[in-house]
Amino acid sequence: MSDIKSNLVYEKKTVYEKAGKEVVAKAYEYAKGYMQFLDAAKTEREAVCEGIKLAEAAGYRPYTIGAPMKAGDKLYYNNRGKNIYLFRIGTEDINNGIRITAAHIDSPRLDLKQVPLYEDNGMALLKTHYYGGIRKYQWLATPLALHGVVVKQSGEVIDVVIGEDETDPVLYITDLLPHLAAAENEKPVAKAFVAEKLNVLVGSMPLDGEEKDAVKLGALKFLNEKYDIVEEDLLSAELSLVPAARARDVGFDRSLIGGYGHDDRCCAYPSITAMIDANEAKHTTMCILVDKEETGSDGVTGMQSSLITDIIAEIAKAMGGNEALVRANSKCLSSDVTAIFDPNFTDVFEQRNAALLGCGVGMCKFTGARGKSGTSDATAELVAWVRRCLNEAGVVWQTCELGKVDVGGGGTVAKYMANHNIDTIDLGVGVLSMHAPYELISKVDLYEAYRAFVAFYNFE
Ligand code: MN
Ligand code: MN
Repeated sequence: MSDIKSNLVYEKKTVYEKAGKEVVAKAYEYAKGYMQFLDAAKTEREAVCEGIKLAEAAGYRPYTIGAPMKAGDKLYYNNRGKNIYLFRIGTEDINNGIRITAAHIDSPRLDLKQVPLYEDNGMALLKTHYYGGIRKYQWLATPLALHGVVVKQSGEVIDVVIGEDETDPVLYITDLLPHLAAAENEKPVAKAFVAEKLNVLVGSMPLDGEEKDAVKLGALKFLNEKYDIVEEDLLSAELSLVPAARARDVGFDRSLIGGYGHDDRCCAYPSITAMIDANEAKHTTMCILVDKEETGSDGVTGMQSSLITDIIAEIAKAMGGNEALVRANSKCLSSDVTAIFDPNFTDVFEQRNAALLGCGVGMCKFTGARGKSGTSDATAELVAWVRRCLNEAGVVWQTCELGKVDVGGGGTVAKYMANHNIDTIDLGVGVLSMHAPYELISKVDLYEAYRAFVAFYNFE
């Protein structure tokens, strides 16, 4: 290669080419902890529990709003069991801002309706209402597990998990046999698969001595014996069907990870482990694992809740700072996934600006749809700052857009952070088959995300 070319031309390279064998070996090792996290945390509530375990093991302790704090404190705020804020008070003046990463821990799935259970033609079934953006056909004819909580009138919370233990039964949504699918095959996908047909089969044996709805009664008896609940308790429950499959190495070379809910646990896990490992950062650091991103970030546990500004205000007050100044000088990485260029679907990607598999963590300056609608569009100054941060740390990274202009689009929590006058940019892991029940990521991309977040917490 000529000097002119090597000096002037930007070339995207893989982690394998740029970072070398040692980093790749570390990435494979790091993936093991991530895969355990993925299997243990299939819902936001479970992710909060796993997050607290990691945080407490690293010396973090619960924070209550209004409690005093001092430099060196490592605290976490558990928001209703579905959203968690970890923060560590640095030695630097709080007015210089907080280094924040924000990842979401909810994933697309099938929630149960409030009155879910019924019987039809000898089958006990549960009605569902899908959560987030799914392609409905992907949820048919595949083993599903039931996760969530039932909250009794007394306030007692009962944790439910069925379908994860090897000895557990799994649940299942039936699909149409191809022999009888001629008419369905003629329909567009959006019409062929109907939400109200996503009814989950949970049993088929009638209860002895019952005439009407004997199979439904059998299901209720099972739930009563296992969890001490009655049908009305399901009215105050949050129960979800998630894939029963566990995370596995994918590929002859084991370079990929298949699993449910990479979006966005493949950013949540690097965020929280980086936060814990960046223990010497002089800045105050924060890691937010947030709920409800897949439905628009609304609600008390979503990123649009005022809790973010409440907590920043509490930190500013406790550390003698000015809240507005703290926000103005803070920086946030919205750590969410992006799409990896897929050679099976080249028509929707613009290859030069798509994230490529194995080319490291992906930075999206903007998200949104059409003419960048609905994006916070990070400043070029922030992009340059992050670029310097990542390059000085030797992190392998790439810029990316989700897909071709006008083909579609998507959003993240970035704009909700940016709307609080916090400089924010998206930085995360690329995913293949995003939002499918079983998604794919690259181990080296995952590890570069971790390295990027550590660099971000520690930089300047
Ligand atoms: Mn996401
Ligand atoms: Mn998503």
